[in-house]
Amino acid sequence: MTQDVLVEERGLAAPEPIETINHWIGGASLAELPAQTQDVFNPAIGHVIAKVARGGTTEVDRAVQAAKVAFPAWRDASLMARENVMFAFRELVYRHREEMARLITRDHGKTYPDALGEVLRGLETIDFACSVPALMGGMITPNVSTNVDAYTIRQPLGVVAAITPFNFPAMVPMWIYPIAVATGNAVVWKPSSHTPGATRLQAELWKEAGLPDGIFNVVYGGREAVEAILEHPDIAALQFVGSTAVGRHVYETGTKNGKRVGAYTGAKNHMVVLPDADMELAADSAVSAGFGSAGERCMAIATVVAVGEAGDRLIQLIVERIGRLKVGPGMEPGVDMGPIYASEHRASIIRWIEKGVAEGATLVHDGRPFRHPEYPDGFYLGVTLFDHVTPEMEIYREEIFGPVLTVVRVATYDEALRLVNSHHYANGTAIFTNDGGAARRYQMECQTPMIGINVPIPVPYGHFSFGGDRDSAFGALKMRGQDGVRFFTKLKEVTSRWPDPSLRGLNLGFPRTT
Ligand code: NAD
Repeated sequence: MTQDVLVEERGLAAPEPIETINHWIGGASLAELPAQTQDVFNPAIGHVIAKVARGGTTEVDRAVQAAKVAFPAWRDASLMARENVMFAFRELVYRHREEMARLITRDHGKTYPDALGEVLRGLETIDFACSVPALMGGMITPNVSTNVDAYTIRQPLGVVAAITPFNFPAMVPMWIYPIAVATGNAVVWKPSSHTPGATRLQAELWKEAGLPDGIFNVVYGGREAVEAILEHPDIAALQFVGSTAVGRHVYETGTKNGKRVGAYTGAKNHMVVLPDADMELAADSAVSAGFGSAGERCMAIATVVAVGEAGDRLIQLIVERIGRLKVGPGMEPGVDMGPIYASEHRASIIRWIEKGVAEGATLVHDGRPFRHPEYPDGFYLGVTLFDHVTPEMEIYREEIFGPVLTVVRVATYDEALRLVNSHHYANGTAIFTNDGGAARRYQMECQTPMIGINVPIPVPYGHFSFGGDRDSAFGALKMRGQDGVRFFTKLKEVTSRWPDPSLRGLNLGFPRTT
């Protein structure tokens, strides 16, 4: 049977005519057709399934104007009024979690259970945002001078922006905008144009939850839309999640333009395996965390650091597991790994594999020849395993962001620690060992901010903050958690005295507190 017949039969065909997903501004999709669009692919079949608007200066400004109009009333709304919307949104996301997961799988390619997990991990931060009123309090110090009180007020910033990547169309934005909205800001969101299905659903759910029009706006697009956000004088702050090259530019340009910026960027996460580790668990974890979501996670394990005699046994167990992996469409039951999200990215991963071979790493398993027998146009790639990778190789130093796992062998724990602490990326890391003392040492000595102990993907719980170091993050504050509240609010310091006739009289000296 040909791919086209299968696509038709299995309901994977795009609806006719192909729909256009438009910018969401002022509480609705824009009615007029966008001036520019770009194609949206279903990577499992390699066909165009929709078109998405591509905005720039005009659309960003339109969204900012809508946000500016809506902001004052939202800032002044009671905490309870804002909380009611947050709780309603939380319930709606939960109720629509399966629909959202299906849209993520359709546009991104990751498996449906993985997509569902993504929505639920995003929900954790929406839960946190429902309790933000408890964190909005300031501090009051009475009698800082005679009859004078001093206090702080925490207030929203105004219009803020979120710029997010393709790989988590729901979870990553849900780590940003719920806190921005709950603290009283108006948001302009520029998501990745590769995965707009789940994005539009999130906007619709905000509307249904009762969020006032203009508080949540979505402008699709690429570089032009991002530049327009960075240059817009009425955007006070933005959080960016994406690659390091773009994130560094966003951080430098945004801060130069006077904005508060947090940029959370690329990674090369190391998993250190000590010889005393539970090797079966370590091999399960390396394969799951290395190839889950086709390696397209910022917390994916990219490098296994095998210490001492751990190497040979671990490689053997990893190879056994690789043999059992099923690659295919993300909606198909039993599939472990879906396609790569875009054909250009698939080509880039193949170039990295070629580079690894040229650099002299041992290619233990080659994912390049894999073709899906039923969907030859899909953007599939098998999994790749390199052994004997060295720190000088580019495949060790740079982010590949695909199903390519590299193994570096070292003699000692200290050598492993040195590798992790000297890498230019520092997002997440894990240690596998049964020695509590060694695990504790790693937690204290390793300078990577998110650490797993026998947990390969240590994404902190949604109420905690998230963020890396070195080339994995730019800016003083992390995403989410209490840092998220600090990021999206500013403190005002008030010194107050109520008129008291006994205190009248001129005094030109500097106000003193004694
Ligand atoms: P990307 O940098 O290509 O895109 C991120 C955002 O920037 C998108 O909205 C995109 O439209 C926009 N953009 C792309 N090119 C641009 C340019 N030249 N100028 C201005 N804007 C541009 O990243 P991606 O490929 O969508 O996502 C993968 C990357 O994101 C990986 O590097 C991954 O490690 C990183 N990531 C990091 C985290 C984290 O929390 N640290 C989380 C998820 C993903």
